Amino acid sequence: MEEAQTFEEMGLSEARLAAIEAQGWSIPTPIQKKAIQPALQGTDVVGIAQTGTGKTGAFMIPSLEQIEPGGGLQVLALCPTRELAQQVAEDARLLSRGTSVRVADIVGGVNYDPQNEALSSGYEVIAATPGRFNDHMERGNVDLSNLRVLILDEADRMLDMGFRPQIEDVLRRSPQSRQTMLFSATMPNGVHALALRITKDAVWVEATPQGTTAEGIEEMVYTVKPGKKPELLMYLLERPGWNQVLVFTRTKAGADVLRGHLEKAGVGVDVMHSDRGMKQRVRALDRFSSGSIRVLVATDVAQRGLDVEGISHVVNYDVPQDPEDYVHRIGRTGRAGAAGNAVTFVVSTDLGFLRSIEMRLKRKLPRESLPEFDYAQGGTSKATLSGRPRRTRTGGGMGSKSASELSPEELEALLNPDS
Ligand code: AMP
Repeated sequence: MEEAQTFEEMGLSEARLAAIEAQGWSIPTPIQKKAIQPALQGTDVVGIAQTGTGKTGAFMIPSLEQIEPGGGLQVLALCPTRELAQQVAEDARLLSRGTSVRVADIVGGVNYDPQNEALSSGYEVIAATPGRFNDHMERGNVDLSNLRVLILDEADRMLDMGFRPQIEDVLRRSPQSRQTMLFSATMPNGVHALALRITKDAVWVEATPQGTTAEGIEEMVYTVKPGKKPELLMYLLERPGWNQVLVFTRTKAGADVLRGHLEKAGVGVDVMHSDRGMKQRVRALDRFSSGSIRVLVATDVAQRGLDVEGISHVVNYDVPQDPEDYVHRIGRTGRAGAAGNAVTFVVSTDLGFLRSIEMRLKRKLPRESLPEFDYAQGGTSKATLSGRPRRTRTGGGMGSKSASELSPEELEALLNPDS
């Protein structure tokens, strides 16, 4: 789906557009551009976004668009704190200006009466803290039968605060047919597993990091013959410091084949892609984050939201075709100020994708050439793990320039001598 660049292009109602304008929001934030349209179509959404990214608009605008006034409670947002629930309710009120939609916040530490009133008279939107909302459920005050959208906001904090039982209770009592949106600033295993379990065919969206360079991440591109990729990876895995390696392949089949190669070579490895069941994915992730396997092979679908600490290397075994995926993938290493490395394998037919990535990043990626693997070097000798291949920095044939100093034409000529 083409991403809408303006609120008008999203096909929102007139009243909504007016309310958005009254808020002074002229263009959607990146997370809003990614989430609103799929959500409007009823698709579940998992959003990785912190406060300040416009995440509330990202889930509230499409939720409000689906409401039938007078149809009872239809949108429920669970939030970790009273302040956040009140803020979400306030945003919902502002965004439903000019409509008859009624919004309430249901939080602890305040009188039950107005909350009872909001629940019994069928307010369409409620933002609540899980504790107080559960009190009301247990008192029989809550009718969830018309619920269309369930939102878990700041899911990581809710789990940290021990709200899992209350959340599970709401999930159990809400209609199966509901749309579910889960937003979280971070994706530790518990939240990742929860997101996989409670959403169906969700789109995973992430607030794009502001900077185009991931600070503290060393990036390198290796030009390689397609058939040499497994050997190049094996060679690199022998290098010191390659402790916890996340490898991305373009296809599920490619991921399975690579796992086979690595297993045969005695490397501890597992795979994560959409053909693997939730249990298998969670298990793979657990094994990887606990260090019992060294390599996790994943496809892009599976990587969204993966938040494992201590990934030393991310390997783009296949070049991502969408530059945004490059940014997201390399963001998996170098978390929380730790040093990280991102390595990208490029075969000659990938040069166009590499260009797009470099244009997106507004910089060139450094290249390293290992002649034994490199298509541009015409090396034919079979590399072995014991015989160290000769290493050259790109620039040979181009004087003493480093890769980043080469013009695109020079680079092309160097990487693709026959063209
Ligand atoms: P949130 O991440 O939802 O807490 O939003 C952070 C702040 O950004 C809030 O003050 C919102 O009012 C504001 N905001 C949300 N969406 C937009 C937008 N599209 N344009 C300008 N400000 C926005």
